[in-house]
Amino acid sequence: MVFYICIIAVCMIIPVGVLMNNNVEQYHYTQFTGNIENGRKMLNYTQGEPLNIYTVYTDMRDLYASSFGIYGDNRSFTVVDRNTNEIYSNDSVFLSHDSSLFINELFLSYNFLSSMAGTPLNSKALQNIRGRTFYDYAITLENLVIYFRYYKTDWQAMVMQFNETLLTALLFSIAVAFVVGYLLSRAISRPIKDMTVRTKAIAEGDFGRTLDVKADDEIGQLSTSINNMSYSLKNMLDEISSEKNKMEIILDNIEGGVIAFNLDGQMIHNNPAAYTLLNRPDMEFTLESFVKEYNLDIDVSDIPADFYKEDILPVDEEMLAFSIASFKDSLGNAEGVILLFRNITEQYRLDRMRKEFVANVSHELKTPLTSIKSFTEALMEGVEDPATEQHFLEVINSESDRMDNLVKDLLQLSSMDMGRMILKISHHNVTSLITDALQAVEAEAKQKNHTLISDIAFKGIAYFDYDRMLQCLINLLVNAIKYTDESGRIEIKAYEESHKLCIAVKDNGIGISKKDQERLFERFYRVDKARTRIMGGTGLGLAIASEIVKAHDGDIKVESKVNQGTTITVSIPLGKKEAAQ
Ligand code: ADP
Repeated sequence: MVFYICIIAVCMIIPVGVLMNNNVEQYHYTQFTGNIENGRKMLNYTQGEPLNIYTVYTDMRDLYASSFGIYGDNRSFTVVDRNTNEIYSNDSVFLSHDSSLFINELFLSYNFLSSMAGTPLNSKALQNIRGRTFYDYAITLENLVIYFRYYKTDWQAMVMQFNETLLTALLFSIAVAFVVGYLLSRAISRPIKDMTVRTKAIAEGDFGRTLDVKADDEIGQLSTSINNMSYSLKNMLDEISSEKNKMEIILDNIEGGVIAFNLDGQMIHNNPAAYTLLNRPDMEFTLESFVKEYNLDIDVSDIPADFYKEDILPVDEEMLAFSIASFKDSLGNAEGVILLFRNITEQYRLDRMRKEFVANVSHELKTPLTSIKSFTEALMEGVEDPATEQHFLEVINSESDRMDNLVKDLLQLSSMDMGRMILKISHHNVTSLITDALQAVEAEAKQKNHTLISDIAFKGIAYFDYDRMLQCLINLLVNAIKYTDESGRIEIKAYEESHKLCIAVKDNGIGISKKDQERLFERFYRVDKARTRIMGGTGLGLAIASEIVKAHDGDIKVESKVNQGTTITVSIPLGKKEAAQ
């Protein structure tokens, strides 16, 4: 600041100095030439006659000197005869016995030479010959040339004094510039420097200090504005950061995976669920490699601003549902892609099961219906043989029973699914439960010549819904009878294990393979579809038994070996279960 003010002072004073010097010189030159031209008018010589040089010289010296303004040592005149080059001069150099030097100088003067040639061309030029500075001027007078000199010594002192004054003014201005500059820098530069430091700090996120507002001038108002701006910026950033934190907490805790890529394909965000769902702890993807690895149908080279797509894809053993959408900047241009995905394996499995279930129910109902319809049509056309007619009617009856059983089983399962099965739990004697179950299947067992054995080690009281448990045991016993060849051995055991009542139904029948055991309790699952249908099963017996046991907070397990036999064990807690569904 001080530096600039000094430059301004110097730039203002130096031109003034130069201008003044020129003006002084111009003034003296004009006065010098004006005097000569005035003096010329005073000369009184006969025109056309050659003049005597000495007479003219003495006239100039004695009569006309003051008219030509010739006084003192600094102004001189010299009379030269153009024909003879004879010279008279009152110049101090000429008179100081250095006349040859003076004459040599004289013949260097352009103004003098042009007058000697008869055509005076007086140009204004400050001559500098051998250290002497002067203006000169020449006039012609018949055969003579009168040459005038005006030495700068005359106004030199004035110019020097003038310059000294200017120098003093310059130094004074610089001193004033220092003081003013210092004061201005205190008043302007310092607050501005302060503001610069402050705005830099704000840009780096430091909102701590506020600027001092010393006055209500422009600087003060600017400081107030910066303080206000800093305050609003801080509030805004706090808000954004709190929103960001919230978002991060939400993203970190949601079950769904989230991955975002920018348009250069770099991953810019992912959450812990994404790692878990994709089972990739080293998740380093670009958009391109991700799309390739998971076979997503996206053209990564051209993602429109309103891009949205959904996809269901298998990843390892799971099914993931992907939603892929582009996100936009404030101008509405696509800025990147965000992928949301969630595990829908269970939902997918249930959906598949539901579809299978509907297909199974339709199929199971269609088969007996088709038989009933065809046998009814045959009867309507008329069957002559009464035995055949009887057989047809029996088939229709048994198929109707099958449909009836199927619908009953379905209704029972449906009421269990909808939570409408209310268990009537109370204490019961296990021996009588098993006796009743055996009695219910006795006739069926007899038909296949099976031996029914019961081994009731548990003699105590247990809490359960009697009718439901009876139905569960009958289902297990019926299966044991059905899937054991003639003259088999069916055994039912009741015992206590780990505070649980265990009832096992064991047969030495056809057995079940390991693979089939896993799906045994699914609805309509049958090991050998054709065979079991002939045996009249609905494929729902074990599913119902399993639901009843689960409603008692119990467990049902199968142990089996193909061609050796099967044991299905039901276990329910011995503690009192007050109310359950
Ligand atoms: P179903 O009415 O067809 O018997 P279940 O649900 O009771 O239906 O049984 C499902 C399937 O499990 C049966 O079709 C059968 O293949 C098999 N299964 C059940 N119990 C036994 C058993 N004791 N021995 C061999 N296979 C069995």
